[in-house]
Amino acid sequence: MTLLMPSTTALTWRNRFARLGNDFSTPQPVRPLHAPYWVSRNAALARELGLDAAWLASQEALEIFTGNRVLPGTEPLASVYSGHQFGQWAGQLGDGRATLLGELQTPQGGMELQLKGAGLTPYSRGGDGRAVLRSSIREYLCSEAMHGLGIPTTRALCITGSDDRVRREEVETAAVVARTSPSFIRFGHFEHFSHANQHAQLKTLADFVIEHHYPACRDAAQPYAALLQAVSERTAELMAAWQSVGFCHGVMNTDNMSILGLTIDYGPFQFLDTFDPGHICNHSDNQGRYAYNKQPNIAYWNLFCLGQALLPLIENQEHALAALDSYKTVFPKALENRMRAKLGLADDAAKNDDKALIESTLKLLAAQQIDHTIFWRRLCDFSTPAGRESVRDLFLDRTTFEAWAAPYAARREQQDGHASQALMRRSNPKFVLRNHLGEQAIRAAGVQDYSEVEKLLHVLQTPFDDHEDIAGHASLADFPPDWAAGIEISCSS
Ligand code: AMP
Ligand code: MG
Repeated sequence: MTLLMPSTTALTWRNRFARLGNDFSTPQPVRPLHAPYWVSRNAALARELGLDAAWLASQEALEIFTGNRVLPGTEPLASVYSGHQFGQWAGQLGDGRATLLGELQTPQGGMELQLKGAGLTPYSRGGDGRAVLRSSIREYLCSEAMHGLGIPTTRALCITGSDDRVRREEVETAAVVARTSPSFIRFGHFEHFSHANQHAQLKTLADFVIEHHYPACRDAAQPYAALLQAVSERTAELMAAWQSVGFCHGVMNTDNMSILGLTIDYGPFQFLDTFDPGHICNHSDNQGRYAYNKQPNIAYWNLFCLGQALLPLIENQEHALAALDSYKTVFPKALENRMRAKLGLADDAAKNDDKALIESTLKLLAAQQIDHTIFWRRLCDFSTPAGRESVRDLFLDRTTFEAWAAPYAARREQQDGHASQALMRRSNPKFVLRNHLGEQAIRAAGVQDYSEVEKLLHVLQTPFDDHEDIAGHASLADFPPDWAAGIEISCSS
């Protein structure tokens, strides 16, 4: 056995989820992959976690983050949850291919570390417990992109790959994403115990979440209703953030909803290219249940399931409904604030008129089939003649554009020009992980060229910067090529 480098022994782990006991999880031996290799390491996150960069580059770390070797102090496990999938009760699911190593003590507090794609667990059902390189790159890049956008999300520390084969529609190769979150608990964890009438376990779980993640709820008159309200509010903020950047999740099943209001489980997600409100990004979503414009209502539906699950603890239906109601006030307010910032409106002198302006802007984008990200980024320079022209250039129908632009220009004139532009430049990203960009990085990675992954990781972590020093920065912020429309992303990952 090789000696451990000092940095691994210096890491402090806690395993509080494991302490909940075997009703909540099953100890999980890690399942090796052959001859693993590095695909990418996220130096920025490593620094935040207090991990030594040299150690993270070591053979030992490669073995550990592939699941070939156990990190001292961790107690690997797979947790059990259930959930509603596409609107139907799906029964027991659980970590079918994710292994929770434990909770690393970091300068920012406890961070759980999970290996996604680490092999069969008791909850794998018909699956193989693996993840393919393609979808691992998408999760890795997108979770960092969301973080860069300031949107709550799980994050990804590294990807390792192996030539071990994984069968999907085609034969692909295996990969493991090491991802972090203060907690990976989902709405589905609560639904699991509630549907099984295991109310003692339901209470244990709710108390655990309150104690570690929502301590303010402990002192509320009704702590469990307060928890439901706090989760509703965070989820409302999350939906406003998604809608404002044109993010479609694709599989908003209740088992993919984080109890912390984080974006979790990146599968068939997509950032809108053209602003099409009814866009369906998941090729398997035949009914369009998870279309872009349905996401806010689906989140509320999912919260309703959570409320239903918590009812044995809340005891009073009125209290549960009142807690859920907070979603209906927080979401529209949060969305309006984000949209006003995107438009560069810092004061709220004309709030009511601004609502109409937001609506007319989105209508215009939809009707004229305008590229979402490019429109908003170009709008940052609207106050200069050249800037205004570059926005106008996006429109075939100039008359309709001018009819929208005149009142907008008048409203902008009431703003402090500098402050307004600065607000827009931090609200309208230049770079988002468009499908075709992910696809290009995936194709290159297929022939062991990981430079596109690195380049994207770099710009997406600070997507509001211009990155003019990066070779090819303009094409990363450009319109999608024609072939992008033909990319089909389904649940199979
Ligand atoms: P998802 O739609 O990816 O969130 O997955 C739904 C459920 O299926 C979860 O319980 C996953 O753990 C499980 N799952 C997805 N893919 C696999 C796989 N390849 N092997 C085992 N379980 C899987
Ligand atoms: Mg999932």
